[in-house]
Amino acid sequence: MSSPKPDKASSNDAKTSNFLRQTIEHDLAAGTYAQRRWGGSPGDAAHHAAGPLDPAKVRTRFPPEPNGYLHIGHAKSICLNFGLARDYGGVCHLRFDDTNPEKEDTEYVNSIIDAVKWLGFDWNGAPDAPPYQASDYFGFMYRAAEHLIETGQAYVDEQTPEQMRLNRGDFGKPGVDSPFRARTPAENLARFREMRDGLHEDGSMVLRAKIDMAHPNINLRDPAVYRIRRATHHNTGDTWCIYPMYTFAHPIEDALEQITHSICTLEFEDQRPFYDWLLGKLCQGGLLGAPPPHQYEFARLNLTYVITSKRKLAQLVYDHKVSGWDDPRMPTIVGLRRRGYTPQSLQLFAERIGVTKSDSWIDYATLEGCLRETLDHSAPRAMAVLDPIKLVLTNWDEVMGAGTIDECSAPVHPHHPELGQRHFKMGQEVWIERSDYEETPPKGFFRLFPPSIDAGGNAVPGSRARLKYGHVIECTGAIKDEAGNPSVVLTRLLPDTKSGTPGSDSVKVKGVITWVGVNEASAAEVRLYDRLFTDPQPDAGGKDFIESLNPHSLKVVTAMVEPSVASAQPDQKFQFERHGYFTADRVDHVPGQRAVFNLAVGLRDGWGK
Ligand code: ATP
Ligand code: MG
Repeated sequence: MSSPKPDKASSNDAKTSNFLRQTIEHDLAAGTYAQRRWGGSPGDAAHHAAGPLDPAKVRTRFPPEPNGYLHIGHAKSICLNFGLARDYGGVCHLRFDDTNPEKEDTEYVNSIIDAVKWLGFDWNGAPDAPPYQASDYFGFMYRAAEHLIETGQAYVDEQTPEQMRLNRGDFGKPGVDSPFRARTPAENLARFREMRDGLHEDGSMVLRAKIDMAHPNINLRDPAVYRIRRATHHNTGDTWCIYPMYTFAHPIEDALEQITHSICTLEFEDQRPFYDWLLGKLCQGGLLGAPPPHQYEFARLNLTYVITSKRKLAQLVYDHKVSGWDDPRMPTIVGLRRRGYTPQSLQLFAERIGVTKSDSWIDYATLEGCLRETLDHSAPRAMAVLDPIKLVLTNWDEVMGAGTIDECSAPVHPHHPELGQRHFKMGQEVWIERSDYEETPPKGFFRLFPPSIDAGGNAVPGSRARLKYGHVIECTGAIKDEAGNPSVVLTRLLPDTKSGTPGSDSVKVKGVITWVGVNEASAAEVRLYDRLFTDPQPDAGGKDFIESLNPHSLKVVTAMVEPSVASAQPDQKFQFERHGYFTADRVDHVPGQRAVFNLAVGLRDGWGK
């Protein structure tokens, strides 16, 4: 398992170099793409040749299939592709890879647009430009297929899928030529047009590139490039009953968009020779402008305790294991956002994990560390009591005067004095954490415990602790409920010890207690989230990830919070002192009506302790 050490400095450092940056720098220095022209929109060789020199120094792309919500792995790819374009004076394209008619949906299209925007990126060279759609290129793809047929480089194969599979051979065995491989271009063209015109059944024949049935790379043993599929497409409707295969469509999409560096995950490495073969043929034929794009592969993100397969994430949603795609425990971008992740934290994460050529696992703590680090700079502090018990200052009237409300203040952020002070009020009663009072304290417990008699018969006084930003108090006992559990903690206040006043530290204490005044506290629903899985690799090696769902991944409590918190806007973030970073839930929190906060991340990595 590799987990780069969270290194405070690196967030401000110059970008760490990697093989992709080196490649781009080399291409820029060598002028590899300097003569490229740009026709103002995607298009064929003639279209771009008529345009000026491309003002974009490089073109990258992020090409999601709109068949689900994006997840943290996609966030890595987005930050990478858009980040490279930004850093090298280029443009990154957002392109919907919607060549598969069956699985796609406009709900997903919209969520992907939102996710990329939210992460902080513009696409296609202008703010609010429409994303590109691969399905807009079906016409060109068809033309490219006819070109291959006419030049003897593709044929219609009518073997059954089973025969085709058998005749493909395997690693040790060369494939066998199809009996249809020797057809003339004219015969193939006629057949292919029949396919297009709907004269043949789904699955009855395919168009295959004619390369080499004995090639050591099985992907080059005459791969299928077009199939018959009667399905209504969300963009092109029923215009087509044949659709290109991904391996044929993808290189063409890149080339029509004048992409220079086409960056994908390692599983496509074996497809690169076909990518180069196809674009080489279409450039030779004058259909596409040269030089063609080049494909580079990097290791996909594997994150411990997380699954990053859209299909498996969909299963969690449809089986109601989570509340939806945006459940704050989901690794989807909508889920992370609702949980309290910020664009900056995900960008920092992408930068920190870098790009490599070999698969590895990133520790979930690295992701959490990035969130903590970015929120630490920005989140205002506040007090919240997550498991409240009432504390009474029994000598309040005597010391402070009957009915007095004492004003306390604290910095909004300890390192940003310019953000000013926050103010809150203390009266005779405050809420504290239930765990801050122990009738029989364990060794080293510095918070509140009552007076007692020790084993030797000696009187041990009640403990003293400071109410944070307020006075020092001494515990005198507790009132218990019928079950014998403490229900009210009794204390007395020590005069002249208020934080920030002269002589306030005349009484030294080790314990500091966070609190919220009963007179001004309001109740809030707080959702305490934990990891969704207990297994660090929930779906590795074919494991059933449902079995390692963490039964304690959500705990809901009613907390008492200070006024600055109760009036928060949805998505507003705080550090609840002592507890961690919280965000006002963007769905359920309604200012002034219903307060709902999500635990985004604790103050330190407490997992496994
Ligand atoms: P899934 O397997 O979850 O369906 P996918 O790879 O099929 O994911 P696409 O929508 O096709 O999803 O991917 C869009 C882009 O995001 C691709 O370039 C892909 O390489 C990249 N991507 C997807 N998952 C990851 C990941 N875990 N790490 C890095 N990049 C990823
Ligand atoms: Mg995919």
